[in-house]
Amino acid sequence: MNAYILIVEDEEALTTLLRYNLEAEGFTVDAVARGDEAELRIQEQMPDVLLLDWMLPGISGIELCRRLRARPETHALPVIMLTARGEEGDRVRGLATGADDYVVKPFSVPELLARVRALLRRAKPSHVSDFLVAGDLELDRVSHRIKRSGIELHLGPTEFKLLEFLMLTPGRVYSREQLLDGVWGRDVYIDERTVDVHVGRLRKALNVTSACDPIRTVRGSGYSFDETFYQAVG
Ligand code: CA
Repeated sequence: MNAYILIVEDEEALTTLLRYNLEAEGFTVDAVARGDEAELRIQEQMPDVLLLDWMLPGISGIELCRRLRARPETHALPVIMLTARGEEGDRVRGLATGADDYVVKPFSVPELLARVRALLRRAKPSHVSDFLVAGDLELDRVSHRIKRSGIELHLGPTEFKLLEFLMLTPGRVYSREQLLDGVWGRDVYIDERTVDVHVGRLRKALNVTSACDPIRTVRGSGYSFDETFYQAVG
């Protein structure tokens, strides 16, 4: 399965260690030391997983992650943040920025490899699939139909896009700003409260037949598609 991993890290020794171990696992590996360089490299070739250091020359890992999440072509790109910071507040901030996972330096290499593999397993199907399925919910990306327990639901176009966006990355928390960027587009200027209105409509439409709500409100952060929803009704 020769997945392509891009390392963005300015500590050369760590890059060498990661490259060696990832290549030994059979991955194709490339590495850059600057945030702005990473952005160009990603445009040239889309990685399957991005290992992204927090503090970088050029643009920071956090800023790069935020930019990637805001673009439709990279919004679902699997990202693992590497950082020396371990405070709970930073962890929450890292994940709120849109990283899928987060490891604190110094980390164990086998642990990181396990996370890379887990992320690849999780990310691959949604990149290629025309159907997104979670619990009793089915979203057909081609015909734009949504069913819950086999019953068709009626969603407005914005609610559909919002649900599709959230379902692509279960568990990832998006801020209202990120949802505006990802669902409405970067150059549209709308009040962030609009997001709340549409999330409200989406919930209402989704929960007609069931009280089990797949959309999670994260206080102070935003919204996510509840990753435990799979088990809750599945
Ligand atoms: Ca660094």
